[in-house]
Amino acid sequence: MSPDIRTIPAQHVAASRISELDYNNIEFGKIFSDHMLVADYKEGAWQNPQILPYGNMSLSPATSALHYGQSVFEGMKAYRDANGDILLFRPLDNFHRLNMSAERMCMPAITADIFLQGLEQLLRLDAAWVPPTSGCALYIRPFMFATDEFIGVRPSSSYRFTVFTCPVGAYYGQPLKVAIEPHYVRSAEGGAGFAKAAGNYGAALLPARQMQERGYHQLIWTDAREHKYVEESGTMNLVFVIDGKLITPPVSTTILAGITRDSVLQVARDLGYEVEERKVAVEELAEAYKAGKLQEAFGTGTAATIAQIATIHFNGEDMDLPAIEGREISNRVATELDKIKTGQVPDRHNWVHRI
Ligand code: PMP
Repeated sequence: MSPDIRTIPAQHVAASRISELDYNNIEFGKIFSDHMLVADYKEGAWQNPQILPYGNMSLSPATSALHYGQSVFEGMKAYRDANGDILLFRPLDNFHRLNMSAERMCMPAITADIFLQGLEQLLRLDAAWVPPTSGCALYIRPFMFATDEFIGVRPSSSYRFTVFTCPVGAYYGQPLKVAIEPHYVRSAEGGAGFAKAAGNYGAALLPARQMQERGYHQLIWTDAREHKYVEESGTMNLVFVIDGKLITPPVSTTILAGITRDSVLQVARDLGYEVEERKVAVEELAEAYKAGKLQEAFGTGTAATIAQIATIHFNGEDMDLPAIEGREISNRVATELDKIKTGQVPDRHNWVHRI
């Protein structure tokens, strides 16, 4: 660590658990690196940022977040380049989005110092946990929640910000079968769908499970007013290729502004493809499918980068889309984006933050 940057106090683990990790067999979200970053908001200011051994937190049963859901989070990844250096992908975007989510939930903004410097320091300390294997990454989970011990409904006056990390294996997800959701809604205009607020995810579990019981991996959320326009699929943004053009719903108050979505659209433009950000009606998809013009469909998100969609169910019918291998645009964009994230090609948009 260079001596000139302000250092967040760190309490190191007595013995690292890294030797327990089998890089070739990592179970997603269950193995946590040695340390975590913690800071508390009290009396109007963030205080006492520190790095601690990863471990349980002691909370009062009256902890406000557990009752009224003032809780927001982020998800991002660190990769290794060919030299073994650690690269973060667009961390400033996650920082800004966390604060946008916090604002919507009436929570204070975390400072750039604590988020970015804390993250760098945490990653340097736990560098060994960033998998060296191609396709693997270190998943990073920053989050913030209300900590007042008080069960009145009002914004908490104290909060905790934490970052912990977990190594994750390569995403070998099978192509998805998804179904248009005709009844439930994730988000409505004026609501909090654009925020990564914990409650949004809790409310999505039942509709997703019901769809799974009907034989689909995931559902496609539609607009709250008419169920006419597609919005997102599960926890991914949606992109379609119709007649050679990439088409995706615009980000709005009902759609989370995915960082992968933005990156995919930019890379597609860089590669010379035409991109349209506009509302996409379910009927338009059905018509394009019938006319043989719906060439590709995929979700975008940090977990998978691109998750191919094989089948879209709508109105009693399964629309089976063209084979994944022949999907020129999404395969090209996914490959290019992975190269950017792992430093194999020039970083023309300044997305990569080297630790
Ligand atoms: N939509 C929702 C609702 C999500 O939770 C996520 C995951 N953060 C995304 C889209 C994709 O966002 P990103 O590309 O930033 O991971």
